[in-house]
Amino acid sequence: MADNNCILCGKCMEVCPLLRATGREELSPRAKADLAALLRSEPGLLNQKSAAQLAGLCLGCGRCKEKCPQGVDVPAMVASLRAAHPGFAGWLWKTWLKRARELWSGTGMAARLMPDTFQPEKLAPMLKALTLLKSGDRPGRFARVDEFSHTHRGKTALLFSGCTARFVRPDWQNTALALMHGLGMDVANRRKDRFRCCGIGLAGAGFAKDAAEMRTHNLETWRKAGKPMIVTLCASCHAGLADHARHAQNEEEAAHWLDSITPLSELLRGTRFVVSEDAPLRIGYHRPCHVDKNDCDHMFLAGLLEERLHVPNGRDCCGFGGIMRLRAPDTADPVNALCWQGLGNPDLVLTGCSACAAQLGATAPAGTLTGHWLEIIADIPQ
Ligand code: SF4
Ligand code: SF4
Repeated sequence: MADNNCILCGKCMEVCPLLRATGREELSPRAKADLAALLRSEPGLLNQKSAAQLAGLCLGCGRCKEKCPQGVDVPAMVASLRAAHPGFAGWLWKTWLKRARELWSGTGMAARLMPDTFQPEKLAPMLKALTLLKSGDRPGRFARVDEFSHTHRGKTALLFSGCTARFVRPDWQNTALALMHGLGMDVANRRKDRFRCCGIGLAGAGFAKDAAEMRTHNLETWRKAGKPMIVTLCASCHAGLADHARHAQNEEEAAHWLDSITPLSELLRGTRFVVSEDAPLRIGYHRPCHVDKNDCDHMFLAGLLEERLHVPNGRDCCGFGGIMRLRAPDTADPVNALCWQGLGNPDLVLTGCSACAAQLGATAPAGTLTGHWLEIIADIPQ
């Protein structure tokens, strides 16, 4: 379990979306850090199972970790407690992520695999989110490439599509490939993306061994390809891949790996687009919790959409919450409500994270469209 060097400064309390939305101090990062320390020093003092259930109420957004001056890693503590008590929700979440190929491409298959009694209250929101992501209304392809930048011409790269683009939204994958082709890049895995899941959802839920399997495979795939650039299209996948660096062979390889993973939106700097006049006038941007500080997606959209970007940088958590969606969906709902409140009432909300796109699509108010920013890029002639 991660160290608890908490000095009770309270900085994490200012950023925790769960605490903000529910007002429940027992769900705060500091309370979870205290709980983990207590369980470690006096394991018999608390009922381990109920303590783990309480600590399990965490969105895994990582905002507390980012803010903590002491380096207290609450999401890692929560992952350890979840590992000790996976339960049925844990099994379901692991199955959901590890068998994405079969389950996500056919929600009917997912329904057949789950016991009937479990479906209505637990699985329904995830199935709804997937169904809407697959077949809900689309924002329209109103941004056309006018001229590609030449900066990356001739560079070799691998595309890391992520599970959602591979199994649910192949159009995201196709648009990403078309953009890379337009940039003049040599996409080594154009025919078949051999990467596996980034592992971020598995690690956060306490399935360290399964996440390690994915990580080992991904690092090996990159090594075999000659360690080229890896282009990402999802902020959470990008964060999951960045975490692989801790398991590289040495410091030099870790630095090379971190340098290699590159958001697609960063590569589009210098590419000129034309936005059609009938594009929505009020467009919001949802900033994923796992996006890194540079937030290339936001910079790209701000340059592209200019004054149409009505809410310049929506910062509230969407409330997806990974395994918490299964364990306690009602507790995550107020977080989602605050997110929509912060976004105002736009015609369209764009984001650069697969999980956020699914969550926003499933919870959008009537009259508001949602999507990954790749969905607004017009077809690119090959
Ligand atoms: S920010 Fe870190 S040190 Fe401060 S209260 Fe939170 S966990 Fe403790
Ligand atoms: S990871 Fe997010 S939801 Fe969990 S305790 Fe930290 S700030 Fe709160």
